[in-house]
Amino acid sequence: MNRKKLKETDREIYTTIRKELKRQEEGLEMIPSENFASKAVMEAMGSVMTNKYSEGYPGKRYYAGNEFIDEAENLAIERAKKAFNAAHANVQPYSGSPANAEVYLAVCKQGDTIMGHALPDGGHLTHGWKTSFGGIFFKSIQYHVKADGYIDLEEARRLARENKPKIIWVGASAYPRQFPFREMAEIADEVGAYLVADVAHISGLIIAGVHPSPSPYVHIITTTTHKTLRGPRGAMILVTEKGLKKDPELADKIDKAVFPGLQGGPHDHTTAAIAVALHEAAQPEFTEYAKQIVANAKALASELMNNGLKLVSGGTDTHLILIDLTTIEPGHGIFAQEALETAGITANKNTIPQEPSSPFYPSGVRLGTPALTTRGMKEEEMKQIGKWITAAIKETEAYRLPEDKEQRQETIKKAKADIRRNKALKQIRKEVRELCKKFPLYK
Ligand SMILES: *Cc1c(COP(=O)(O)O)cnc(C)c1O
Repeated sequence: MNRKKLKETDREIYTTIRKELKRQEEGLEMIPSENFASKAVMEAMGSVMTNKYSEGYPGKRYYAGNEFIDEAENLAIERAKKAFNAAHANVQPYSGSPANAEVYLAVCKQGDTIMGHALPDGGHLTHGWKTSFGGIFFKSIQYHVKADGYIDLEEARRLARENKPKIIWVGASAYPRQFPFREMAEIADEVGAYLVADVAHISGLIIAGVHPSPSPYVHIITTTTHKTLRGPRGAMILVTEKGLKKDPELADKIDKAVFPGLQGGPHDHTTAAIAVALHEAAQPEFTEYAKQIVANAKALASELMNNGLKLVSGGTDTHLILIDLTTIEPGHGIFAQEALETAGITANKNTIPQEPSSPFYPSGVRLGTPALTTRGMKEEEMKQIGKWITAAIKETEAYRLPEDKEQRQETIKKAKADIRRNKALKQIRKEVRELCKKFPLYK
């Protein structure tokens, strides 16, 4: 990418961006919420569309000069409706968390009861966790997953009957299986709740048809645009036909909650880039891409299990894998994350269902294949990467997390220094770099 002007104007940021690009090129990006947006998406993002103020919606703006902003936003809206088979789309939410706040604002009053998938069980902060607005402004009920890693539908049904929530969320950030939209709809319909599918992680898979669509079952869909959808950082809120049937004013309520409820001027450069990402996602190549994401995740999962690692739910249906490290010890995620990073593999420590340790010292590692698949990697590479991941985790087997909190800091500090010097991990890093060279980014 040409950054000639930036180089002239601001050498420091120019250099930092170059270093970040090199980091992305030379490592295996396995955080499942991350991806590499296309050059076309980035060209739309880095365009004159960022210069405009356009509070309001197409045809109803507060400022003049929005003819072409309207054109871009209308394209994004039409493409979004088509992609998700929805009756209405709002493409202005700044990101996934504000989009979810806007859903609450549209259909709930402060103090209402809401229900979502518990954070330690893979759910998202915004679905009612105590430190986020859903848990702060509402009476939050949380459902969980069973010991086998699948959503506990019986518990969800019982909690819904007992508490009559106004909203039920379905969707999560660390759930390796398909979401039971149909079953959750039965529960929501029985108690008269709005069912909201938050498909932030899997929207690309849904568009490509490799994960069932929530559209026939839910009233509202929220999604980020930068995860499997591979667009710019942003989000969308969609209202389904079923949603309009339940509440004919729902689309209007959502639009008012986004603006003026929670946001000001839309990020028109992002809107343009969302339109581009949706156009890309409508192509046959994207369907192939999404299929390969899942095929890669399945190949990686079998390799990890063949090498003796335990996976939550025993595998994956999606782009995401959760390694359960309690076979070594509860709370071991921090050591594994550090070893993987040293080996050139970026992943994150994560809680596992019925977490025996704590969210700060979780017992799992979360991995995903969307970014690697964008680079063109396939099953063969996944097998090799599975071997590296197993070997890297093996290097941490001797470490133990002390019970005592102060001792913990000391032990972790020492272990990290130790891990960074580890020869076996450094060797893996070399091999990772070689593999990455064969799959260049932004060629
Ligand atoms: C990533 C994510 C979000 C939040 O998106 P941000 O853009 O990080 O605010 C919301 N819900 C789910 C399920 C997510 O995975």
